[in-house]
Amino acid sequence: MECIFCKIIKKEIPAEIIFEDKTTIVFKDIHPRAPIHFLILPKKHIASIKDLKSKDQKLMGNLFLVAKKIAKAKKLPGFKLVVNVGRPAGQLIEHLHLHFLAGRPIKMP
Ligand code: AMP
Ligand code: ZN
Repeated sequence: MECIFCKIIKKEIPAEIIFEDKTTIVFKDIHPRAPIHFLILPKKHIASIKDLKSKDQKLMGNLFLVAKKIAKAKKLPGFKLVVNVGRPAGQLIEHLHLHFLAGRPIKMP
């Protein structure tokens, strides 16, 4: 399964990548909803949380560890993580991703 985020992962389309390791990539959201708005995602194409398998547990855990690493590197005192699951919740891109938001108090939608 190919999608726009898979294309960013393969560097077929550009994005402002701010972190990458073996299984995870982080890049700036093209339409930032906060002063700092990154997307943290597994390089493996998983459409949404609804599609997770138990073998994805470590992969998912790494997303949170990467969030922690980014906050530490950027000296952010706090941040919000949001995951939209499914169209009705506002998930437009079907490649699981965490929204990493910071830089001002962020209200829940
Ligand atoms: P969601 O609505 O949770 O699926 O979030 C998808 C996010 O991806 C939105 O916040 C978009 O602004 C963002 N987005 C879409 N296309 C790109 C792109 N080419 N590069 C970076 N972010 C993107
Ligand atoms: Zn994908």
